[in-house]
Amino acid sequence: MTAIFPIPALRDNYIWALHDDHHAAVVDPGDAAPVRDWLNANGLTLAAILCTHHHHDHVDGIRELAQVYNVPVYGPRQEYIADVTRAVGEGDFIELPFAGVRLSVLDIPGHTRGHIAYLGEDFVFCGDTLFACGCGRVFDGSLEQLHHSLRRLAALPDATRVFCTHEYTENNIRFALLCEPGNVALQARQISAQALRAEGRPTLPSTIALEKATNPFFRCDQPEIMRNVEKHLGHALSSRDEMRVFAALRAWRNTF
Ligand code: ZN
Ligand code: FE
Repeated sequence: MTAIFPIPALRDNYIWALHDDHHAAVVDPGDAAPVRDWLNANGLTLAAILCTHHHHDHVDGIRELAQVYNVPVYGPRQEYIADVTRAVGEGDFIELPFAGVRLSVLDIPGHTRGHIAYLGEDFVFCGDTLFACGCGRVFDGSLEQLHHSLRRLAALPDATRVFCTHEYTENNIRFALLCEPGNVALQARQISAQALRAEGRPTLPSTIALEKATNPFFRCDQPEIMRNVEKHLGHALSSRDEMRVFAALRAWRNTF
């Protein structure tokens, strides 16, 4: 059976491992040691490495793993990552025969300008573009790209499981509650996230449905969010179109 397991790495990264009883593919190995330990502990062989963008906490473990296991390394066509052997982009497919899985590649720029996601039948590896109750910062992509990419992810089926790369959920929820204190689903999410973290468990994966109900960056059309953005700014937005609200929200989050 295919499962997706979080290997904790660095300070707050998850290296997601899609595996069966014999093989695994890992996403964004920012460190090789925890991946090797996990593979060894479970008697698994590495079959592929998938990478979403060029940041060091997503790529620094690739070289060592690729040398030990000699596997294909997939990564974004529009970014330079030294050890990528299969550059991919929008419209490409990746077969993981050991798991009976076919992934399609989506271009979701914004956090970085070539950021990609890997979409399976009912799950997505979205790197640092979408977080539980939040989204990535803009580095070498643009705010417009990030907004567009999040809208694309929001349009995936509700049941799609969302595998983000960082455990930022509790902090993101605290910010989201400033934006939308009256959101009952968000209040409930804070309680469940706190309970999971108190037991040392990941708050991930999320789902597209849960993000649509609680993630302020998916909810820029909500009057309560618009009002609180304006309250934070101390003046009315020149327009309440979604992109304007999104930009103000992202800027606010950067100072939170
Ligand atoms: Zn990043
Ligand atoms: Fe990251």
